[in-house]
Amino acid sequence: MEFKTDVVIIGAGPSGLFQCFELGLLGIDAHIVDSLPVIGGQCSMLYPDKAIYDIPGLPIVGAQELIDRLAEQLKPFDPTFHLGHRVTRLTRLEDNSFELHTEGDICFQTRAVVIAAGLGAFKPRPLRLDGINQFEQTNLHYHVADKLHFKGKKVVILGGGDSALDWVLELAVVAKHVHIVHRRNEFRAAPASIAKMHELIDDPNQPVDCLIGRIPSYQSDQGKITAIDVAPFGDSEPQRLELDELLVFYGLSPDLGPIADWGLDIERKHISVNLETFQTNIPGVYAIGDINTYPGKKKLILSGFHEGALTAFAIQQYLDPDTKHKLQYTTTSSALQKRLGVQDNAE
Ligand code: FAD
Repeated sequence: MEFKTDVVIIGAGPSGLFQCFELGLLGIDAHIVDSLPVIGGQCSMLYPDKAIYDIPGLPIVGAQELIDRLAEQLKPFDPTFHLGHRVTRLTRLEDNSFELHTEGDICFQTRAVVIAAGLGAFKPRPLRLDGINQFEQTNLHYHVADKLHFKGKKVVILGGGDSALDWVLELAVVAKHVHIVHRRNEFRAAPASIAKMHELIDDPNQPVDCLIGRIPSYQSDQGKITAIDVAPFGDSEPQRLELDELLVFYGLSPDLGPIADWGLDIERKHISVNLETFQTNIPGVYAIGDINTYPGKKKLILSGFHEGALTAFAIQQYLDPDTKHKLQYTTTSSALQKRLGVQDNAE
């Protein structure tokens, strides 16, 4: 599949989403690619239900809510998302444009590229058991897209961090039964979540139990996992846990992957940028958000927003170097309001 566009943004985390908005305001067309099946980057994958307190103008906002608001803000520009596609190859063409390829055979022809790839492409740390990958199409999950899918079912959750516990608490309300299985007695999650989980486990009226041990094997039938075996540490016999759905939260491992081979200046796994334009050492390729580095860099969401705004102006100048571009305000510019679809009080 081939697409032609002005800009491709790699990464649909908060930085990539706001970058797309800022480009849209300037009338610049962009496509967004992410290796994950959902937008939101770290906010959606690592801490969707946590509150964020340091977004300007929003004294408190849920991490997923922030992503939903960014997506809402972007709507007037109707950007094209390519989710579930990991970008692998960047080639500079003779006319200084780029060809960008994904693992899933998409090829973009683009005049500029913004790398907003955060910590790199997230990959869930997999459950390592022979042949278990095939069940990712059926009842082995590394991510919850819709919690109602688990309604009335026997669910087993593997892991002991925030995500595992958050989903134990969430699914306890809808599932028939939830078993959490962890390798050790200590959980690495928010103390309030740990306390709440123990409350549920201790309450005989709640459908939640916990087992400590490792998983040496599993059972399957007709294309689905039907049970896992949990071997406690010591001499005890493994216990077989029957299940309808298996959720694995062993954490996410970010992987800069092929981006590291594109000839960019990389300093300790981060891309060096020019502080004025956020351009990398390759003209036309920019880097914003957690992936970049410069003196004084702070990995905060608001840094990505600021960098996205300045990058949009830099790209505008790069794509159209002969025009002197004037700064316009959304409050007073009819051109910007037209793009936003809100022409109410422009001068
Ligand atoms: P990310 O959110 O990492 O998104 C990058 C996206 O790029 C990912 O979706 C990834 O899949 C995609 N990607 C990477 N490589 C590729 C590729 N090759 N092809 C396709 N897609 C690719 N910040 C705050 O300001 N306030 C807070 O309170 C706060 N709390 C936090 C709490 C926790 C637990 C954590 C972990 C972080 C917190 N942060 C907080 C930090 C904040 O989440 C990050 O600064 C922010 O997510 C960076 O956004 P980003 O868009 O640059 O990158």
